[in-house]
Amino acid sequence: MSNWKPATVAAQAAGAAQHETGGVVPGISMASTYGRDKDYALWRPDNMYGRDENDTVRQAEAVIRALEGAAATRLFPSGMAAIAALFRTVPSGGRIVMQSGIYWGTVKWARDFCARRGIALQEVDASDPALLARALEAKADLVWIEVPSNPWLKLVDIAQAAEMAHRAGAPLAVDATAATPVLMHPMEMGADLVMHSATKALNGHSDVVGGALSVADENLPAWQAVCTDRHDAGAILGPFDAWLLMRGMRTLPLRVERSSENALRLAQALEHHAGLEAVWYPGLAAHPQHDLAQRQMRGGFGCLVSILVKGGFEGAARLASRLQVFHRATSLGGVESLVEHRQVIEPDTGIPENLLRLSVGIEDAGDLIADIEQALE
Ligand SMILES: *Cc1c(COP(=O)(O)O)cnc(C)c1O
Repeated sequence: MSNWKPATVAAQAAGAAQHETGGVVPGISMASTYGRDKDYALWRPDNMYGRDENDTVRQAEAVIRALEGAAATRLFPSGMAAIAALFRTVPSGGRIVMQSGIYWGTVKWARDFCARRGIALQEVDASDPALLARALEAKADLVWIEVPSNPWLKLVDIAQAAEMAHRAGAPLAVDATAATPVLMHPMEMGADLVMHSATKALNGHSDVVGGALSVADENLPAWQAVCTDRHDAGAILGPFDAWLLMRGMRTLPLRVERSSENALRLAQALEHHAGLEAVWYPGLAAHPQHDLAQRQMRGGFGCLVSILVKGGFEGAARLASRLQVFHRATSLGGVESLVEHRQVIEPDTGIPENLLRLSVGIEDAGDLIADIEQALE
């Protein structure tokens, strides 16, 4: 399996099968506890109790680990739980440097958590290397970036950020949810940790909430703390969700390829539309960091497109209300396309009031483009 390409790893769930029955699809290990023999030795030394020992969860982790090129992966019951497990490794009095303008759930939680814990949190526009360098002149315990960022679609030069973080004594963690492990490999560029909201493209079918954290080197002290935290504090993913996630990931490369292709076609079709002020998509030649996107991403630029609608808040609300193919819903990375009027969710964070975030699915690209065009009429 070690030389399998991503499409093979995904389609065959990294080799998982049900050996007891001969099934080519693994069963779900539902046991919450595991038996011992008469001498009190565990039937399986690596399985004692369901928190946090479960073969189905391990199988799903193996798929992500292989796709990511990581040394180890741990699943959590949500993306936020994965993020929280990592942030909790920073001691009181420590310092975190975090990219600004990223997923609002992360920002809100990090601000609350750091205030409560007496941790210095510096938010910086890390897409500007000079600003990141300045923030990392002082020592830090963790550097957190999100590439591409949601919904600003900004990129950070990951190799450069890793160098700066390491000089400041901090590991670099990348939230690569919007890129997926199909399109981007932060660890090849020097990142120490990679996080994905498995709720999004990894599962891809809008029916699982989960999160994954992967590490390039298991000896990283923060990693040991993350594993202990999951085991002791119990933020585990249930086996059924892990199984569904594994099934969803069988088509991950196919889905990501199609949704990226659709997103690019849509962004190109709408780029100069008279009803729009702007279209943000890293795959567009006009995107200010298109060169960096081409260097860091392979095979596409992801499913996220932000459009700025003429006519302010009302213009955006009107467009959203008239869509018939796109669902009006939060989240991203599913097979079905979604639209979100982002300012309604985060009114006070500087998100333009006319910004609609599109998560482009795997439907027919022509249907998606026609849907936006009719709504703009
Ligand atoms: C959704 C999301 C998260 C949080 O994941 P949950 O599974 O919803 O907890 C974190 N980062 C990004 C970029 C996301 O889109």
